[in-house]
Amino acid sequence: MVNLLNLTGHNKEETKLPRFECTKCGACCRDEFLIVTVTGSDIVRITAVLGLSPNEMLKALDFYVVSDGESIPVGLERFPSVATEGGLSFISLKKMENSECVFLKDHLCMIHPVRPVVCRSFPFVFDESDGQRTWGLSAKNEICPGLTTGPQVSEIEIAELADSILPEIQIYREFAKEWNDNQISPTALNLLKTIISDTRFYS
Ligand code: SF4
Ligand code: SF4
Repeated sequence: MVNLLNLTGHNKEETKLPRFECTKCGACCRDEFLIVTVTGSDIVRITAVLGLSPNEMLKALDFYVVSDGESIPVGLERFPSVATEGGLSFISLKKMENSECVFLKDHLCMIHPVRPVVCRSFPFVFDESDGQRTWGLSAKNEICPGLTTGPQVSEIEIAELADSILPEIQIYREFAKEWNDNQISPTALNLLKTIISDTRFYS
């Protein structure tokens, strides 16, 4: 039985499953405020497909450091932070000066077959706590025209998407805890090397 609650809905209208069909407009790849977080598995797939060294992959990433007492920006809170020389950081794909994702070229995603889980599931986001899975939307239709296009998404589609996303985030969460507990002088480069050599990210 499909049993996913809505993360954000406060009334009946908001908890209804939306219509959605991606129009391939690319707005989510150019939005200034959408942060493209990555898991360890995302990093492994991208480096493998593009043949990147850890140093080269590092150049395609941003590290968001959230200081003590600072609130975590919306969208990052479902991902673990990892220890780097700058402090606990959330890893995401680099944004260029014009806010475009580093992998967007001529309006096309250069890494489409291995795009990160957040791109594959956008605009849906998922969480899991005490065995209860929840879903929500990370954008409204002013950003994502797909939300006013196509048929209503079914509960089964939402559940399948959650199945394809949440285990990967959980593996990354377990990795992040081990990494954070065992580092004396962590660096982002060593972090990437460790991720790329960790077999858990190859399943
Ligand atoms: S903004 Fe929405 S419709 Fe446009 S490419 Fe992204 S997911 Fe598809
Ligand atoms: S990885 Fe591809 S789909 Fe994801 S934001 Fe970048 S260009 Fe868009």
